[in-house]
Amino acid sequence: MNSLDRLISYFENFPGIGARQARRFAFHILTLPPEEAAELSSLVGGIQSSVTECSSCRRFFAKNASGSDTCEICADSSRDRSKLLVVERDTDIRSIERSGVYDGLYFVLGGTVPLLESRENKKLRGGGFKRIVETRLSEGLREVILGFSVNPDGENTGRFVESIIKEIPSADGIKVSHLGRGLSTGSELEYADPETLKNALQNRY
Ligand SMILES: [Zn+2]
Repeated sequence: MNSLDRLISYFENFPGIGARQARRFAFHILTLPPEEAAELSSLVGGIQSSVTECSSCRRFFAKNASGSDTCEICADSSRDRSKLLVVERDTDIRSIERSGVYDGLYFVLGGTVPLLESRENKKLRGGGFKRIVETRLSEGLREVILGFSVNPDGENTGRFVESIIKEIPSADGIKVSHLGRGLSTGSELEYADPETLKNALQNRY
């Protein structure tokens, strides 16, 4: 395979990218000024060493000089530690932060539990979620918000999270809430506009 075809095949493996878009990306790179193509290349090459996963919420964040292993959201003492919003992926947090209405903490589960899939998703951080709930309980955690997309897989993932909470005896008094209506059925959290997310969070039940 020549280098252009190899580049196209990398893009084809990106989430949500088809063969046609992959070709458009690759050909777009061919039209870039050489210095921009070089910068893109060095960003891709260095991203894994300059960005790390937060030990608490598991989102990715840019490493800072202090070498902290928690991200700026988890480290922010002004955030409300009584609330923990569980989302499928890192990019959902960006969407919610943009809505500006949520001041609690997060946890990135790392995927969904599909309704019609018996195989266990190895990327799912069920154990990590359990540990973080246990830790946060001593810091005043009172509510876990299920922030999943409105579709059968999202609902099934919510049930999975609830079953983990039920396994923790001391989590007895935790309230589990769902995002309010307003998010249309089938919609992915990542693509919801800030106003819709704001309403869904304010009207959680
Ligand atoms: Zn964090």
